[in-house]
Amino acid sequence: MYYHASQIGDIVFIYCTKPLKRVMYKCEVVKCNMQFSECVDDRAFWIDIEEYKKSQSGMYARLKLLEQVDSNNLDLNNLKENGLTAAPQGPIKVAKKLETYLNKHFNDFYSEGFFNDVNKDEQYHEGHTITSTVNKYERSSIARMKCIEYHGSKCLICGIDFGERYGKLGEGFIHVHHLKPLHTIGQDYIVDYKKDLIPVCPNCHAMIHRIENGENMTAEEIKEVLEANF
Ligand SMILES: [Zn+2]
Ligand SMILES: [Zn+2]
Repeated sequence: MYYHASQIGDIVFIYCTKPLKRVMYKCEVVKCNMQFSECVDDRAFWIDIEEYKKSQSGMYARLKLLEQVDSNNLDLNNLKENGLTAAPQGPIKVAKKLETYLNKHFNDFYSEGFFNDVNKDEQYHEGHTITSTVNKYERSSIARMKCIEYHGSKCLICGIDFGERYGKLGEGFIHVHHLKPLHTIGQDYIVDYKKDLIPVCPNCHAMIHRIENGENMTAEEIKEVLEANF
């Protein structure tokens, strides 16, 4: 991505232009001051080849995708009401008010404070007391998407399918539970959506967090606990 004056660790929000007209991606700069030769050649995506050629003399940064959301709260009108002056035409520095607003809506698709995980990445925002008690792997829209793609959207414990139960309203609705206790996770841990994440309904999810109580339970053990009581 072409982006000047960035530093490693900077957070970059990506605004998608028409017809989407909204911020959809939150990324982190992991490498900067890169030459075109170090980048993935994106020629196939350019309509105007002259512009493509011009882009080769720019400086680039490598971004790591942190979160992906699609929410009306992050569309142009709402962004304008929260500090954006005009539709972004290129890289702009995000002012504090807008930054707070963006971060809030990258988190809010999941009800905060619902499950009491001890969160080692607990975040404290100005004006808030304690937020985000669900761990970041359960909150991550990317991890969620991959988990559901792999396991499906039925509860892995009790089997409820919200689409079957509630029709169109419930289609695709499910929580995602992260099986690894956070205190055992090192800094360089990468979530394995096949093994570490499971789709669960809100009832089973609440019960898992109740019985977990600091204990490390596998998906099978959780299932046994519930089956034993039917
Ligand atoms: Zn369930
Ligand atoms: Zn959970």
